[in-house]
Amino acid sequence: MLKDLLDAKKCFKLVCGAGNEDANVVEKLVALYAKAGCRFFDLSASEEVIDAAKRGFEFAKVNDAYLCVSVGIKNDPHVNKAVVDYEKCISCYSCDSVCPQGAIKYAKVKKFKCIGCGRCAKICPKGAISYVSEEKDLSEVLPPLISKGIDCIEFHAMGLNNEEIEQKWNYINEIFDGILSLCTSRGKLSDEKLVERVKKLTGTRAPYTTIVQADGFPMSGGQDDYKTTLQAVATAEIIQNENLPVYLLLSGGTNSKTAELAKMCGINANGVSVGSFARKIVKKYVEREDFLRNKFAFEDAVKIAEKLINSCNITN
Ligand code: SF4
Ligand code: SF4
Repeated sequence: MLKDLLDAKKCFKLVCGAGNEDANVVEKLVALYAKAGCRFFDLSASEEVIDAAKRGFEFAKVNDAYLCVSVGIKNDPHVNKAVVDYEKCISCYSCDSVCPQGAIKYAKVKKFKCIGCGRCAKICPKGAISYVSEEKDLSEVLPPLISKGIDCIEFHAMGLNNEEIEQKWNYINEIFDGILSLCTSRGKLSDEKLVERVKKLTGTRAPYTTIVQADGFPMSGGQDDYKTTLQAVATAEIIQNENLPVYLLLSGGTNSKTAELAKMCGINANGVSVGSFARKIVKKYVEREDFLRNKFAFEDAVKIAEKLINSCNITN
């Protein structure tokens, strides 16, 4: 049971990317991290991606792992996709080199790979890149995924639109009786408003059926240092201080230093969710076309993943 994994406080969640609809990459990432010991996987809300993750489990011969799908509200960065304005673009291709997903080549965006991380827009000298929100209609997307068998739905409650957030959260509550994950950050909220939101949204749920995923800076991971992960730990501390009957995971800028820093700060979380950093450290292997057939490449990558998973164990 997913609850057991959370209760053991050793939960490592691999975040494949809410916007990552690249089934081929998801299959490889899931196979790799499942083999390395990960048992909780966060995926884009897509049937194709869920099927790919299940193929990854089969490859790794793992049958006790859990799937979570991620959804968000309009303009949530996790559901944004980059768009290039070619009237402004000067073809410098700086954007190509910073994309962690290989989602932009010669300033052309492959939407299914884009996770809306914002790196390309930040580096563009001409302000040629903006984002469109790929908001999904939850009543169309979620029921078929629930029928397929998922263990958790993660809702990204970012931004200030409380009405939309509450309405969507309530809808997910009604249609799904598994564990829900509320991913939220300080972002545009004061500490008080963050606590208010978390209390309101988790307050109607039975004790310990909700994960609060304390997001530092969403999708900011990449560097393996304390500074990058500090915000996730600070957000977790705010949630922990409320003593709510919820599970607590850290995310957003998480890396191999997160658990260590969390322990130093007295954070008693149930685990760590890692996305950008976990994908980055195995990128050169996963990009190989023969990755799942090349025993040596796969085993090398598994060792790297195992090291990260071990470093994220808060009970160590
Ligand atoms: S960084 Fe901006 S200007 Fe340069 S290629 Fe990309 S979109 Fe075009
Ligand atoms: S840098 Fe980020 S936002 Fe830009 S194309 Fe790549 S994944 Fe998408």
